[in-house]
Amino acid sequence: MATAVKGKVVFIDERCKACGLCIEVCPTHILALSDNINQNGYHPAYCVNMDQCIACKSCATICPDNVITVYRL
Ligand code: SF4
Ligand code: SF4
Repeated sequence: MATAVKGKVVFIDERCKACGLCIEVCPTHILALSDNINQNGYHPAYCVNMDQCIACKSCATICPDNVITVYRL
């Protein structure tokens, strides 16, 4: 029986410019902007529900600042 693919996303918070592109493309709608502020004054993107990540890599592909790495679990 096939099991659902699970993923894990890791953000380099200090690189994020809060453009929101990753949030728009995530098919499972699990990304959001944090309340925290990084060293450049942006609210960095983060994952609100890692259990729902399907490791599609859409977020990492679209991010213009190479903030995101996706691991397939
Ligand atoms: S890998 Fe896909 S499902 Fe996981 S956070 Fe990125 S866009 Fe969303
Ligand atoms: S696409 Fe990259 S720079 Fe834009 S909000 Fe997402 S992680 Fe930050």
